[in-house]
Amino acid sequence: MDTPRGSHRIVIVGGGAGGLELATRLGDTLGRRGRAEVTLIDKNRTHVWKPKLHEIASGSMDLSAHEVDYLAQAHWHHFRYRIGEMTGLDRERREVRVAPHHDAEGREVTPERVFGYDTLVMAIGSLSNDFGTPGVGEHALKLESKADAQRFQARMVNACIRAHAQSTPLRPEQLHVAIIGAGATGVELAAELHRTTREVVAYGLDRVDPEKDIQVNLIEAADRVLPALPPRLSQATESLLRELGVMVHTDAKVAAVLADGVQLADGRKLPAELVVWAAGVKAPDFLKDIAGLETNRHHQLVVRQTLQATRDDAVFAIGDCAACPWPEANGGKGGFVPPRAQAAHQQASHVLAQIRRRLAGQPLKPYRYRDFGSLVSLGEFSTVGNMMGGLIGGSLMIEGAFARMMYVSLYKMHELALHGFPKMALDTLARLISRRTEPHVKLH
Ligand SMILES: Cc1cc2nc3c(=O)[nH]c(=O)nc-3n(C[C@H](O)[C@H](O)[C@H](O)COP(=O)(O)OP(=O)(O)OC[C@H]3O[C@@H](n4cnc5c(N)ncnc54)[C@H](O)[C@@H]3O)c2cc1C
Repeated sequence: MDTPRGSHRIVIVGGGAGGLELATRLGDTLGRRGRAEVTLIDKNRTHVWKPKLHEIASGSMDLSAHEVDYLAQAHWHHFRYRIGEMTGLDRERREVRVAPHHDAEGREVTPERVFGYDTLVMAIGSLSNDFGTPGVGEHALKLESKADAQRFQARMVNACIRAHAQSTPLRPEQLHVAIIGAGATGVELAAELHRTTREVVAYGLDRVDPEKDIQVNLIEAADRVLPALPPRLSQATESLLRELGVMVHTDAKVAAVLADGVQLADGRKLPAELVVWAAGVKAPDFLKDIAGLETNRHHQLVVRQTLQATRDDAVFAIGDCAACPWPEANGGKGGFVPPRAQAAHQQASHVLAQIRRRLAGQPLKPYRYRDFGSLVSLGEFSTVGNMMGGLIGGSLMIEGAFARMMYVSLYKMHELALHGFPKMALDTLARLISRRTEPHVKLH
């Protein structure tokens, strides 16, 4: 047992877009005043805001400027950080089970542990969903973590270096990338890759001709890119992608991923050296029916409007791992809050207030999702999106500098919640300066 007894024990599992904001703000308030013991458990040592993963994968982001070390964050913000992957839950004993943690050489760093809680917040995010498509596990990369993104970036740079050093003609799949899933992740990755592959080649790999040799394919089963967003946005995005030279394949269902490409259900084969699976969303498998809690077919924990699990008042769930009702969705027909960073951010703020109320013995308030719209970054070329809200009376498509500013502000809100205004402003300034003095694309 690795949790002190005495004050109210709040355990947050998952230090991502929602969980780390919550741990920081709870630590700064209840933790600092000794009113609660706040513990954050995460399977990684550092936090990277997930919507930035495509920038790591394409090599356009300096990771060290954006990574947050959990131990340091915990020290400065009065919470405890414990490393490890949650594998089980005992609701009767109010204990979370965490697997042993091993280092890169396989040596045990921490043994299996249990953490007692009075209030538990599940914030473990989601994974992509390959729906059992053959070959994905063996031949496709995913974009779920920093390690995935770094692996992709290393393979991409190596593919360029290999092609440059080769004396024989390129094979059909060489320097071709296939991205499966044209949601925000796939679209953003396609646009960034278009730019960064050209920059890598421009560093002296002059035997590669980017226009002729490099090809980025974006594959989508639905009839348009960004199928979850309004059709006007899809059309604008598709035109921009095509202008860049990205090959967009809609109505294209993937039957299998092969060692040298993607097999489509209609019989076509798209040769590709690098395949990224960026489609579907599901919560981690171990959540399915965990400790008798209600979960849906995507293994998300079903929560009430208060963000408490339907079957346990002491368990909250936020962000992508929660199935939270959104009564106003689909013109009032109802639906669920979408898996987005803005939802995780809002829910972290809501649970912060509810935990305070819980400690004070007050009734909890319902959470209402506020949809501010969606923004998709097409690298340096453009940002497109739609703004939602009562003030503008529905959905308004935006593009260009204003959309870019809104897109950047989502990350700034996250940084503000983690570091406060002075550090956020100084970090932003430091990055602007280093962008002017350092190469734009990472080569390792
Ligand atoms: C490439 C990419 C681009 C995206 N772009 C956008 C965008 O532009 N706009 C937008 O709104 N959304 C975007 N999203 C979605 C957005 O990132 C998520 O909705 C958001 O991060 C969800 O936050 P979360 O706190 O629920 O989970 P996450 O941010 O995913 O954090 C989950 C945390 O839990 C930890 N964890 C997982 N399992 C365990 C376990 N068993 N034990 C311990 N720790 C665990 C993980 O290490 C991680 O730190 C994007 C997602 C991806 C992958």
